[in-house]
Amino acid sequence: MNIILLGPPGAGKGTQARILVEGRNMVQLSTGDMLRDARTSGTEMGKMVAEVMDKGHLVTDEIVIGLIREKLTSGQAGGGYIFDGFPRTLAQADALGALLAELGEPLDAVIEMQVDDAALVSRITARSTCGNCGEVYNDNTKPIPADQVCTSCGQKAEFKRRADDNEESLKTRLLAYYKQTSPLIGYYYAKGSLKSVDGLASMDEVSASIAGALG
Ligand code: AMP
Repeated sequence: MNIILLGPPGAGKGTQARILVEGRNMVQLSTGDMLRDARTSGTEMGKMVAEVMDKGHLVTDEIVIGLIREKLTSGQAGGGYIFDGFPRTLAQADALGALLAELGEPLDAVIEMQVDDAALVSRITARSTCGNCGEVYNDNTKPIPADQVCTSCGQKAEFKRRADDNEESLKTRLLAYYKQTSPLIGYYYAKGSLKSVDGLASMDEVSASIAGALG
């Protein structure tokens, strides 16, 4: 089963992708994570994307489609792929459709995670992740343990905040979402693949709704 998690920054796509990876042996393909890896690698591409990402703009279609193509043509996904943060433009959606068709892979569902903007701002400005395993924490709802030991991987960890998780870049990221990504809701609705869930419910409720939507 191959699925897309669609929603604005802070909707909980990464958190739900991790739950699906554990529960269904799926492979998470997060273009945000791939780009963050690229920027720390010191390559030309890494330097180029770092500035764009920090400001909250979208990286070019060519770069992200290239990253996804590389993953899809080189790896094996036991339980299927979860596309997290990709596609983000209509051109990326068309490219993904063509790529899956070329590989003879289906696109089984597009899960739209619905949340309101006020919730996104408070979620994003409060979030941090475990430097070892990527588990997501929130200052209000799931604070970093006092002993700095991650509840997911059990390691003493450094907890990181993303450079683009500040109110200024968030504004740009939200605008990019509404201008460039939200048309994908209509695109996938018209293709008959769209399923919407309430992303504001608790983490367990959201994952139950996603499970229900996937059947
Ligand atoms: P994310 O971790 O999904 O919130 O992505 C972080 C940042 O990486 C975004 O604000 C963009 O700058 C860049 N990015 C991630 N995925 C894409 C994509 N599919 N297309 C363009 N830029 C992307």
